Amino acid sequence: MRYAMLIIVLLLSACSRNQPWQTQPDQYLQESYYASDNIFNSPTDRTSYMNHFEIIVWNVVDSLNPVYAPDTKIKEMLDELNRVYKVANIQFEIREVNELTEYYTYESLVANDFSNYYNYLINYNTANVIDLYLVDHEPSLCYNDGRVRGCAKGRGFTNTGGWLSSIVIPKEDVANKKIPVHEFGHFFNLEHTHFNYKEQIAGLDCEKTGDQICDTPPDPGAGAYGAMVNYTDCEMYGAFDENGVAYKPMINNFMSYYAPCYMMEYKFTKEQINRMKNFALDAKRMEFVKSSL
Ligand SMILES: [Zn+2]
Repeated sequence: MRYAMLIIVLLLSACSRNQPWQTQPDQYLQESYYASDNIFNSPTDRTSYMNHFEIIVWNVVDSLNPVYAPDTKIKEMLDELNRVYKVANIQFEIREVNELTEYYTYESLVANDFSNYYNYLINYNTANVIDLYLVDHEPSLCYNDGRVRGCAKGRGFTNTGGWLSSIVIPKEDVANKKIPVHEFGHFFNLEHTHFNYKEQIAGLDCEKTGDQICDTPPDPGAGAYGAMVNYTDCEMYGAFDENGVAYKPMINNFMSYYAPCYMMEYKFTKEQINRMKNFALDAKRMEFVKSSL
């Protein structure tokens, strides 16, 4: 009798051991988890002059075919944000990672002047927390006509220096060395280095024209001038303004549109850093700052 009991118990434990192993992926998909679980612990600088911001990450998924940004990539992004933004006295922590099954692709959010973004997605925003929505692209964006192949993909958007608290980034770009930092740059009130660059050259009033930052040189933009860049020495050659002065934009600036240089990391300038540092304490962002995390 004792043996019979033991066999039954063993059988039961074998079954129950099997079950969680099989269902684990579903549990993982359904639950949000917290920074205290240790997954997203980052070398955050907690000294008092650092301004701490919390992020809620949303995987926006198609429930029939859910795709998630891997935790390892989200962690890479967080570490990189904390490394780069330390000079601006800004640090981040991830409060939670959630999933959103109200499904929007990147392109469906951008279409019609961002109407899905403004009318629907931002309803999930949390007060005084940065909501980071990670989205898929439409599958039909890539083309290959035998001669030319490529993908017309946007890389992220947010509301520059505005009241909105959310940032949208494609899942595939989460661990990119530039894209998340660039979007957070907009969040802290930075424009592109090529923003209104024509005014920047003509006006010479660098505080009021262009990107309104004086130590970023006039940037004609990667769209028309990207081909003039030598990515080995990170310089533009052979492009001139109306007065015959050579353009020497900062190719490796986080807020430019140029491809990465081979030997130089992306950087912010001193004045860009100062602008972000001040904006973190501006009325629009002040309420985001956590006294302790
Ligand atoms: Zn941008």
